[in-house]
Parts: sequence; C-alpha cells; structure tokens
Amino acid sequence: MGEIKKILVANRGEIAIRIFRACTELNIPTVGIYSTEDSGSFHRYKADESYLVGKGKKPIDAYLDIEGIIAIAKDSGANAVHPGYGFLAENEEFARRLEEEGIIFIGPGSKHLDMFGDKVKARTQAINAGIPVIPGSDGPITIVSEVATFGESNGYPIIIKASLGGGGRGMRIVNSAEEVEEAFERARSEAKSAFGSDEVYVEKYISKPKHIEVQILGDTYGNIVHLYERDCSIQRRHQKVVEIAPSISLEDGLREEICESAVKLMKSIGYINAGTVEFLVSDGRFYFIEVNPRIQVEHTITEMVTGIDIVHSQIHIANGGNLHEGETGIPIQDKIPLFGYAIQSRVTTEDPLNDFMPDTGKLMVYRSGGGFGVRLDAGNGFQGAVITPFYDSLLVKVSTWGMTFREAAAKMDRNLQEFRIRGIKTNIPFLENVVKHTNFLTGKYDTGFIDETPELFL
Ligand code: ADP
Repeated sequence: MGEIKKILVANRGEIAIRIFRACTELNIPTVGIYSTEDSGSFHRYKADESYLVGKGKKPIDAYLDIEGIIAIAKDSGANAVHPGYGFLAENEEFARRLEEEGIIFIGPGSKHLDMFGDKVKARTQAINAGIPVIPGSDGPITIVSEVATFGESNGYPIIIKASLGGGGRGMRIVNSAEEVEEAFERARSEAKSAFGSDEVYVEKYISKPKHIEVQILGDTYGNIVHLYERDCSIQRRHQKVVEIAPSISLEDGLREEICESAVKLMKSIGYINAGTVEFLVSDGRFYFIEVNPRIQVEHTITEMVTGIDIVHSQIHIANGGNLHEGETGIPIQDKIPLFGYAIQSRVTTEDPLNDFMPDTGKLMVYRSGGGFGVRLDAGNGFQGAVITPFYDSLLVKVSTWGMTFREAAAKMDRNLQEFRIRGIKTNIPFLENVVKHTNFLTGKYDTGFIDETPELFL
C-alpha cells in the first residue's frame, strides 16, 4: 500500500470489526479503542492492538473524545482513522483536527461533512445541482406563523425537521393548522436537546413514499461512480429495519434517473470517498432528502449485489487511488456489476412484545444461521457476551443474497428461524413476520408499512 501504514478505527461493535477485517485483508495493521464499559467487548480483541479511551467520561462520550483518540493514533503510529458510522463519523471538527495532525481521515473532508451535516445546506446544494427536492421552506424557520403560511399554501400534512437531525429523530408531522403551534415549539426544543441547535425547517409531508438511496464512491480526481440503489422503506418510526438491494419496484427509467441525479449532485460538489444520496419516491417522482457522508449500516447488501468491497474502496480512495485507472480494483461505471438481490435485517436486542424496549444481560445461548448466500456482521454476538444498556441495540446484521428477490427473502426467513438466542430478547420474531409478509414479498410497501401493519407485532 501507499501512504496508509496503520488504521485506527474510532468506533465499536460490528462496524469496527467489519473495518478491521477489511484492513487485515489489505495487510494494514489495526488499532482499536474501547470505553471502560466496553472492556469486554469483542471489537477490542479483533484489533491488532487496542487502547482504553475517554477514561472517566460517560459511555458514549468516550467514543467522542477527539483529543484522546488523536493521542492514541499518534502513540500507536496509526496514520489514518476510519470513523465507521455514528459517533464522530460526521463530525467536521474531528476531520479538521485529524487534517491538522497530518492523519488521514477515511471519509470526505470537513468541508463536505459541514455541507451535509446540515439538512438545509444539503437541500440548497441539491437545488443548485438541479436535483428535485421536496417542496419546503427556503431556509430555516424561526417564526411560527411561517410554518402556518407554508401549510396553507402547500396543504397539510407537513413535516418540521431539525436542520441537524439524524437517526430518524427530530421530525414532527403536522396534520392541520391547529397542530402548528405546539408542534413547532416541541420540534425546536427536541432539536435543541438532541442536536444542540433549535434550528428547524419545514417540508411537505410526502404520503406513502418509498425510501430509495444511492451508494456513491468518489475519488480525489473528481471521478464519481454509483453502486446502484437500496430500498430502505421498511422502517419503524423513521428508522430502517430491513433493507433491500436493488429495489424490486422501481421502473428501469426511474432507477437510472435517480442514480444519475445522485452522481450529478456529488460531482457538482467534488465529493470524495463513500457517501449515500437519499431520496423519497412517490407516484413515479423522486425527491432528494439528504446525503449521508459516511459508510452506512446497510452497505453490506450493496457489496453483495455488486461484489465491490466498500470499505476496501474507502481505504483505496483515502490512499490516493484513482477510480478510473483500474489500480483500485473498482471498475468504472459501466463495468460495475449488479447481480441478484440482497436483503439485510437488523437484529437488535429489543423486545418486540414490549414496544421494542432494549433488553440487557448475558447471552446464555447464541447460535446463528449460515449457509450459501448468507453474511453475518456481529459485534458482541457470541455465547457469554454481556449486552450492556450503554450503546445502540444492534446485535447482528443478517444479510442474504439470492438470484431472485424471493430466493433472498426465503434465505432470510430460513436464517432468522435458525437463530437460537437465549438470555436476551431480540426482535427476530418480528423480523420473521416482516420478511414473510405478502406485501413485503410483492413490493407493496412504503415507509408506513410497519406502523400500519399490526399483524407484524403478534
Ligand atoms: P434522518 O437523517 O433522521 O435519517 P431523513 O431526512 O433521512 O432523516 O428521513 C428519515 C425518514 O423520515 C425517511 O426515510 C422517511 O421515512 C421520513 N421522512 C423524512 N422526510 C419526509 C417527508 N418530507 N415526507 C415523508 N416522510 C419523510
């Protein structure tokens, strides 16, 4: 390899392990970090060396300890950092501090993190690039009467969104003029407490859309390619639960238009590294919603249908690799294959019979599925592991591949059935209901599917 000598992964759990694996395949030594609460976590042992970070800090704050992480990188000789997703992945200060220290950030630069961390700024970029956006306010809204005016001229329902929102949080649907005042106040105070800024904006609420997102890779020479789309419409409370690649319900013309729009947007701003452009699709039309400037949880299924390792690609790009010279192993656009279908289910330690309350304790039994066309990405997925209440409840990502969508779905169902987990409750029974449901199998679903299908919860 060229410049990158050793990679520190500033993350935990399954994504840290997934990145360590890629590094090992590329013959790059790895450095892990772990909080006090994660002293027994598996990711720490999957790194070649690992260090305690954020001593005395709260469990989440430990992984947000920018200076602590930089000190570990320097002491261990890591000259590159992969942030994974969540935590510092979209933190422009972190990217800037690494730049200052001469440490390579495996992701876009601080400029693009700043642009896409703020949904209002991102929207402006999309408009400038000529990409369709959802009818919305021109910028942030500070006076409640502007919300009502927007609702009157565009018709209800509308949605108030936190400019800095993420993870399906910081959104409030407003169904009528009577609801505006309270919704506006609540949206602002929620935004303030969750994201540190009470800035909000308003969009028309699109009813029954599909969530379609396009995986992008961009290099430092201005080349941008897309790796097709994922359908992430199977959501619970605006958070993704099951994802599919490619979508089974997009007509070919529309798919091309969406993928081309994503490339056009990222080209217009000279995007570098892996990113995802998200759209809502309704009645044959598509609308930009946001860009996620990082690797995503659901990148696995794009890897399964294209054969391209996205983390390898990220490292190649950060190392100065050119997408179009063949030296990275990433083919140019018209050579990127798309083969079969893949589905990912997010298995979480949540109790579907108790409003998805996170469960904690010891995994007394843990046996996973397997077989042809199956991929498992787990953090602490093993017998004896202790699941703590401090972090995200994702236990294992189960991804399956098939020549047809039905085949991939049948493999998913069979795999979920094969899991044996005792000691902790998981959402597996719920996921089984989703992937067996006729509407899922026939593509007759939208982002409201889970919330409007009570039989899934039985
Ligand atoms: P986050 O950054 O929190 O993930 P997004 O803007 O990506 O937020 O939206 C997440 C989900 O919220 C979407 O997939 C969709 O289900 C819903 N959503 C967001 N904006 C709208 C809208 N204007 N109309 C309808 N649904 C929306």
